[in-house]
Amino acid sequence: MSAQDYFHQGDRVAVLTAQPLDRLLDYRAPEGGCFRGAFVEVPLGPRKVLGVVWGAGGGGFDSAKLRSVIRVLDVAPMREEMRQFLGKAADYTLTPMSAMLRLATRAPGLSDPPSMRKVLRLGDKEPDRMTDARAKVLAVMEEFGGLAFTPKELADMADVTPSVVKGLVKQGALREEETPRDLPYPNLDPERPSKVLTEDQARAAAILAEGVESGAYGTTLLKGVTGSGKTEVYLEAVASCLRKGRQALVLLPEIALTAEFLKRVEQRFGATPAEWHSGATMTERRRVWRMVGQGNAQLVIGARSALFLPFRDLGLIIVDEEHDTSYKQEEGVLYNARDMSVLRAAMCSAQVVLASATPSLETWVNAEAGKYRRVDLNARFGTAVLPTMKAVDMRAEDLPAATWISPTLKAAMQERIERGEQSLLFLNRRGFAPVTICRACGSQVACDNCDARMVEHRFMKRLMCHQCGETKPVPTICPSCQVEGKMAPVGPGIERLGEEAAALFPEARIAVLSSDLFGSARALKARIEEIAAGEADIILGTQLVAKGHNFPLLTLVGVIDADLGLQGSDLRAGERTFQLMRQVAGRAGRAERPGEALLQTFQPEHPVIRAILTGDEEEFWRAEAEQRREAGVPPYGRMAGIILSGSDLAQVFDLGNALARNDGPLRQVGAQLFGPAPAPIARGRGRHRARLLVKAAKGVALQEALARWTAPFKMKGDLRLSIDIDPQNFF
Ligand code: ADP
Ligand code: ZN
Repeated sequence: MSAQDYFHQGDRVAVLTAQPLDRLLDYRAPEGGCFRGAFVEVPLGPRKVLGVVWGAGGGGFDSAKLRSVIRVLDVAPMREEMRQFLGKAADYTLTPMSAMLRLATRAPGLSDPPSMRKVLRLGDKEPDRMTDARAKVLAVMEEFGGLAFTPKELADMADVTPSVVKGLVKQGALREEETPRDLPYPNLDPERPSKVLTEDQARAAAILAEGVESGAYGTTLLKGVTGSGKTEVYLEAVASCLRKGRQALVLLPEIALTAEFLKRVEQRFGATPAEWHSGATMTERRRVWRMVGQGNAQLVIGARSALFLPFRDLGLIIVDEEHDTSYKQEEGVLYNARDMSVLRAAMCSAQVVLASATPSLETWVNAEAGKYRRVDLNARFGTAVLPTMKAVDMRAEDLPAATWISPTLKAAMQERIERGEQSLLFLNRRGFAPVTICRACGSQVACDNCDARMVEHRFMKRLMCHQCGETKPVPTICPSCQVEGKMAPVGPGIERLGEEAAALFPEARIAVLSSDLFGSARALKARIEEIAAGEADIILGTQLVAKGHNFPLLTLVGVIDADLGLQGSDLRAGERTFQLMRQVAGRAGRAERPGEALLQTFQPEHPVIRAILTGDEEEFWRAEAEQRREAGVPPYGRMAGIILSGSDLAQVFDLGNALARNDGPLRQVGAQLFGPAPAPIARGRGRHRARLLVKAAKGVALQEALARWTAPFKMKGDLRLSIDIDPQNFF
């Protein structure tokens, strides 16, 4: 830190707080002065709030009224690169800095002094009399010799009452000691023996290590099928990073953050790393946050928000399953942790490794363009069998009205039930929302305004375009071939599919896995574990099931509507179908039971479907990239969603319409605006949601145009506007 970064007592400093104020606040530097980046406590009205010294104060505010910073907190100051990262991430996601600071300080008790706690260690005296309960306590202490427990922890672990522990202390068999509450994480040893890597793996590991060694920014796509050893390989990159004395971060989709994974890391490095996720306790969070900042946590395994931890010297970020949609935060600050990893790494000269069996199209395109390095693991470790993949041509299938499981698929499911194996039906539609299609010619009802496929809404008994909001009655005559009475909904919601499966297989145990049916990630995880253990015959899932779960009994996957995504109602549906197929391939291989996948489609000759079936990955990405390029959508164009919400439906739409009428700033940059359309799944309690969609060419300064466009609109009452750059969900 240089001299300009120091402010003397009484100097005017600008402080960023987490309060929703949208500007920095001026204060006087406290006694002893402060550095830029210091975490401070400042008075705000009658309250004391947390803030960060952002720089010299701007003036303007009456200096006589200027209040003083209360104190500088005893935590590592925010580093310059972190301040820059937050600034850039804020600009990119159009998020106020106050909200970014909240993300970066999601640990409780940051303003507390380093607190001490009483712990117990083995004393040097024997208890006068040994009871069973006392013996249990001492056995726990001996078993965990190096660890210090609080009296309560010890009593719980030994399953005795606190008075037993107290008695042992009194007798000197245990002694009390004060230790700081937040302890450094145990040292990880990169020199412990790793597995013997295959030639392919060793080559990949060497390339990643070279990147880490360079000490410069770089991003590498590490591509390999499930089981090819990607984890083994990137743990070697972590080892290189630790050898260099820099910190490493492994991001996992929340659901993949398991004890097994941590055990694997422990086996490699001899100690458990820090862990950061929504299930962590407040105490754990605080410890991680502080130790990461002090450099006393070498490796963090975390969910997406771990990216905002205050690393002292971050040298490597692994984004495992980089294509996973859960990296996109859909509430509060709408950011994609994969993209933000690349941004953060660029700011702190770190390497990024994006690992996946089925990279997102964005990443594939970046690798093609040479922006990212690409390393492929070709051989699968051990043996595995790819599933047989077949298209079910829905034009030739004889389906009763309002059903979606073809006779071919049904027969395959029947076989599985007889063999005691599991079937998985995949449909990326939560709740309801089918599509209307003509069974005579295969054409689908498209929106007259914008060509997007129209979606049936049961409660309105109308078709609706999710892109622009246009609605119309369900037609009885096909607009394309004029045949009457053949219009039918296809691609039901996952719940309706559940009903159909239950009617076909009344004896079967059916499990529906849809994110909106579970209260928490934990509840969902627990259910998934039960299912993996065989607690269901038929599993119905949305995209959620495509997340690397291992179902050993699963041998059949039916994709209900493989055409989703080919029509543009969901940009990434084709990609998700493809990913699902690949992941199922991995699973079937692991379980040593050959799998079968059936894709129901009305367009078996479509290039994307064909590529999925032949398993030619590069061909798939080329076909998919071509479609996106033609449509001018990401990554060949830019998109943003504007989400409006409020308790009053009319107000929400008034705002949406006003935005649509005043879209000058968008037109100036040649961007197109669609909507407002009702968001079909109202997520908040009692709140109505509407969305607008903005499409622009790739080179456009979209954020700036969006900011200029939305700034004049003041949010009345409980109306809210949020901007979703690069939206993932189109429903
Ligand atoms: P991925 O991350 O690509 O799914 P993993 O790294 O998890 O693959 O490897 C799959 C399994 O194979 C793991 O159990 C791993 O320990 C094992 N494995 C991979 N490579 C090796 C190796 N070179 N030697 C021994 N076991 C290996
Ligand atoms: Zn439309």
